[in-house]
Amino acid sequence: MLNIVFVASEAAPLAKTGGLADVAGSLPQALRRLGHKLTVIMPYYRRHLAKAGIKAKPTGDAVEMWADGHLRHCPLHEARVHGLRFLLIEQDDLYDRDGLYGPAGGAYDDNLLRYVLFNRVALEAMAKLGAPVDIIHCHDWQAGMLPVLLRTQYQHYAPIAKARTVYTIHNLAYQGVFPAEWLSRLGLPSHHHHPAGYEFYGQINCMKAGIMAADAVTTVSPTYAREILTPEYGCHLDGFLIQHISKLSGIVNGLDTESWDPATDEALAARFSAVRTAGKKRCKQALQERCGLDVSADTPLLTLISRLADQKGIDLLIPNIEAWMQRGYQLVILGSGDPSIEQHLHSIAARHPRQMHFNAGFDEAYSHQIYAGGDIFLMPSRFEPCGLGQLIAMRYGNVPVVRATGGLSDTVIDYHADKKCATGVHFTAATPEAFDAALEETISLYRNPTTWSRIRLNAIRRDSSWQASAQRYADLYKQLLAK
Ligand code: ADP
Repeated sequence: MLNIVFVASEAAPLAKTGGLADVAGSLPQALRRLGHKLTVIMPYYRRHLAKAGIKAKPTGDAVEMWADGHLRHCPLHEARVHGLRFLLIEQDDLYDRDGLYGPAGGAYDDNLLRYVLFNRVALEAMAKLGAPVDIIHCHDWQAGMLPVLLRTQYQHYAPIAKARTVYTIHNLAYQGVFPAEWLSRLGLPSHHHHPAGYEFYGQINCMKAGIMAADAVTTVSPTYAREILTPEYGCHLDGFLIQHISKLSGIVNGLDTESWDPATDEALAARFSAVRTAGKKRCKQALQERCGLDVSADTPLLTLISRLADQKGIDLLIPNIEAWMQRGYQLVILGSGDPSIEQHLHSIAARHPRQMHFNAGFDEAYSHQIYAGGDIFLMPSRFEPCGLGQLIAMRYGNVPVVRATGGLSDTVIDYHADKKCATGVHFTAATPEAFDAALEETISLYRNPTTWSRIRLNAIRRDSSWQASAQRYADLYKQLLAK
């Protein structure tokens, strides 16, 4: 049994902006099922926990820490979700805010202070856990500095001194880059601030720090692990990643198949499964009613749930919407992000109230209803480290049309490649035309009930559980400890 600590800036169901939260909430549970001891450390986002209805209680312990000229007293809190222990760091002026990382579409100016403090207090808190820590698994830029701090400033802390670190890149596009003036303000180890370390065009790059100092670096799908070594996907770190290639691997994400289960999902108008599919029709009808669309069982209902950011290829979608409306399809979109995209979608939806519905916001329960009610799930991403939307969609019988990139390539079986086992349709060129052609092909499959029901059942039956991937992480941890 290994003592494993996850350090993550968000984890479902406590606080979530995207796929990282799904992973940080569900992978630890899968590792526990393999017999390991898990703790997840994250900031105490007080109002987000309250919104999620999760109660935390003080552990009675606290960490004192100097940061940016102030001595901070950081009480520790604890929450348990399905037996998994979350250790939460209280610092209300930093973490109890409306956004996790910034106001809508922006970033807080003091994010480096917020997350370096989080990393340091996490290390101090681990030293108090009682048992020696075997593995510290850090996620994304918000935990990137931790492996550097562990190596340079926390080597004398016996309970963590021997711990091995794993750094997982959930999205290379968000690197946490900040002005170098923070080096002295936060007491960061400046002897690593050079091009082979975490310096990046004169600035501090937290993702580079994690890649440099961790014992192993993983990303969330094998295809994305290869793509980030190229200038097209490398976000200016491809050369640096190639230098560290010997410790890089890709492990595909799984899903929390208990909370994402159409057979038991309380948020749905009716439940369904691969053997009892009737409830799916009821879910489609309920979604059409909720969105004010014409209620029609035969009309193809297209769906999209996403952050509205360049990455997600919304610019490949928008030029097609009018044509799809003219062809009589319906479209339901749930997403928030770029205000100009939101405005654009609002104005198209206003022209087609009985065919299109756009909700600009983040709404967990509603997302379940869209996954369940939709026929076709759209994911035209320009790049996609893994993607969870398509995994959830498949499980809910919502057949994905995806751009063949990253984890979308690894998880959706393309109809062109394998007609018998297909779970969706791929397209390759990042153009609206290629997306439209793939959608038209999917619609013709939809019009053929035998073919459609086979693809839909393949999708529902796909094993998206964590079992295999959690075992891969456990094997990686053991390899590191054996070195
Ligand atoms: P990313 O992490 O890049 O945003 P993923 O596909 O990996 O994309 O994960 C997105 C997760 O966030 C999924 O669980 C998806 O259902 C959820 N999600 C995205 N946008 C919304 C929204 N507006 N409301 C509710 N859930 C959302």
